[in-house]
Amino acid sequence: MNRDQVIGMFVGAFLGDMLGAPYEFGPAMSPEDVKLTTGGSHGVTLGEYTDDGALTLALAESYVARGKFDAQDAAKRFIDWRRNGTYGTRVGSIVDIGRTTENAIGRMSAERPYAATGGTHDSGNGSIMRIAACIAANHRRPMEAVADAVAASLMTHGNSDILKYTALFIQEILSAPGPFNTSLYLNPSSFRDGKGSIMYAFNAARYAIHYGKGDGGEVLRRAVAYGWDTDTNACVAGMWVGAREGIDCFPKEYIDALQNKDRIFEVANKLFEIGASK
Ligand SMILES: [Mg+2]
Repeated sequence: MNRDQVIGMFVGAFLGDMLGAPYEFGPAMSPEDVKLTTGGSHGVTLGEYTDDGALTLALAESYVARGKFDAQDAAKRFIDWRRNGTYGTRVGSIVDIGRTTENAIGRMSAERPYAATGGTHDSGNGSIMRIAACIAANHRRPMEAVADAVAASLMTHGNSDILKYTALFIQEILSAPGPFNTSLYLNPSSFRDGKGSIMYAFNAARYAIHYGKGDGGEVLRRAVAYGWDTDTNACVAGMWVGAREGIDCFPKEYIDALQNKDRIFEVANKLFEIGASK
């Protein structure tokens, strides 16, 4: 990946989260009806991102501070986000949190950063949505990217689906050789019942990529149009298309609206530098 693709992948996560946030928990819709808007169940203002983006930024700034993945440092930041909204768009509060993540952060400490239980709810999409920094900081080292992303996932989510889909997602993004498991590729009729899972987020993003044909805006709108966990599905799709096409594949209107965008672009550039130095 070149700098443009690393930045596209990292910022794409936030753009998808932002576009999908007003539609979260809503029904499936037509992609043409998905607009950059406000409101929804979280009452978002224009350009707000949610837990996906905030935890992505928390992990990213941990990489920049430590020069590598550091679970203890990341745990402190996750706990700080939960308590104070740090890394998010609102002072003193967060915009959404998944049940599995909330329970895990409640158990987490710097001394015990790996708080996943491996229970049934641990197959949720709450870990894949925040791994952009793991990829950006290891964009020349696919296996290190997988190792960091799996470790970062185990802080909150420990189901075997998490490990399989996280590895597959990174192999797809970095075009890396690896144990591709085609049984994980599902068609819409097969993944429709798994909303909120990593299986759904991965496969919905994959279909959005397929039909969006390299147009970042179209890919994000298609991911949102699947409904329900619109922000996370589009966050995953945004990483994926941004990694392929670079930052310019996204509409300028979306980038201009994104809150905290200067901080997000700055950390994206620093993550590229970390990855380029390896
Ligand atoms: Mg969210």
